[in-house]
Amino acid sequence: MKIIIVGAGPAGIITGLRLLEKGISPLILEKRAQIESTACAEGCDAYSLKKIPFDSSPYISKVIKGVKFFFPKNSCLSYHIEGVVLERDEWLKEMAKEFVKRGGKLRTNARVSAIDEKNVFLSNGEKMEYERLIGADGPFSIVRKYMGIKQKIVSGVQYKIKYNTSDMHYLHFYFDKRFSFYYSWIFPKKNVLNVGLAGKFKQLDNFLDTFGLNKKNILKKEAGAIPISGVPDRIIKRNIALIGDAASMTNPLSGGGLSPIIHASSILSNYIYDLKEYEREIKHHPIANPALLKAKNVLFNLTNEELTAIGKLFDGKIFGFFTLLKYPFLIPKIWLLRKGVVLAMKWGW
Ligand SMILES: Cc1cc2nc3c(=O)[nH]c(=O)nc-3n(C[C@H](O)[C@H](O)[C@H](O)COP(=O)(O)OP(=O)(O)OC[C@H]3O[C@@H](n4cnc5c(N)ncnc54)[C@H](O)[C@@H]3O)c2cc1C
Repeated sequence: MKIIIVGAGPAGIITGLRLLEKGISPLILEKRAQIESTACAEGCDAYSLKKIPFDSSPYISKVIKGVKFFFPKNSCLSYHIEGVVLERDEWLKEMAKEFVKRGGKLRTNARVSAIDEKNVFLSNGEKMEYERLIGADGPFSIVRKYMGIKQKIVSGVQYKIKYNTSDMHYLHFYFDKRFSFYYSWIFPKKNVLNVGLAGKFKQLDNFLDTFGLNKKNILKKEAGAIPISGVPDRIIKRNIALIGDAASMTNPLSGGGLSPIIHASSILSNYIYDLKEYEREIKHHPIANPALLKAKNVLFNLTNEELTAIGKLFDGKIFGFFTLLKYPFLIPKIWLLRKGVVLAMKWGW
């Protein structure tokens, strides 16, 4: 069967590796001249990462003990869960090499510029026939546009900053509307911090100033789109399927896209001959649970006063029903947030 995957990001390459395991050799088309990572804070939970049919351990920059959620006025809630911060660019390049070594075909400088029912057309005028087409072409997916599926995105900006991270072992998330309507993050790598937020660089500069991070140590400035609308009802059309950011699989609460890709690629490779079943399985999978979207909507609409109150509730205390009674107006919101966080912790950030 002629299978074409559009895009050699994590979704395209991991799906490619999964298909090879089933004895199917797809062709991946990548528009860039070489395999390279898009903007990413590089965090991934260890449970999901181990499920890829590839040894990711050499590309782990730092092992993480868990996450810390910071609220205004310095209150903090910690959650222990094993995770990693990757050297994502190297990881992706090596996975792509492995894909080719195991018999997959990969073409760079191959931008898909049009699609019809049987063919993809490259920007150089080449026409290629497909029997299955997989859109793994990221948040601005041409395949998704061809299928007529819409999504919402927000912009994420990030600096990579030189920093001694030897005593940092947690991913830090900051919920404070002074900086971002969503959240800001500090993820430690080996001697580098990934510092970013959903919003603009001006807001990120303000964040850096507040946390005393020196702009002179910035190594790289990057930005990208984060889909936040959750997995849509439709991710297939005839013999075409979407995966990854093209399918809005990013966890809308955390913005994390790697874990959903890892779980979805396993399902897609199982049902490559029956895409309706792929869509059905994804719909019922925790990565597409509507609770994540509901929790994100709560988070987007919380005020700093509410975030401060939530922070106070959890800060260093054992969470109890009677404490919660002090803030009855927050009970339904905390309930929805809690549901989303529990799901995200189990199935990937
Ligand atoms: C600032 C930021 C921080 C993030 N941090 C994290 C994090 O810490 N953890 C996490 O899990 N997720 C994070 N994410 C999300 C994560 O990066 C994405 O979910 C992930 O990259 C999606 O992978 P993908 O393969 O679906 O898409 P992409 O990584 O976007 O890859 C798509 C590929 O398709 C190619 N392509 C596009 N169009 C065409 C075309 N027409 N023809 C051929 N090729 C094409 C592109 O060049 C690209 O190589 C972050 C996102 C942003 C923006």
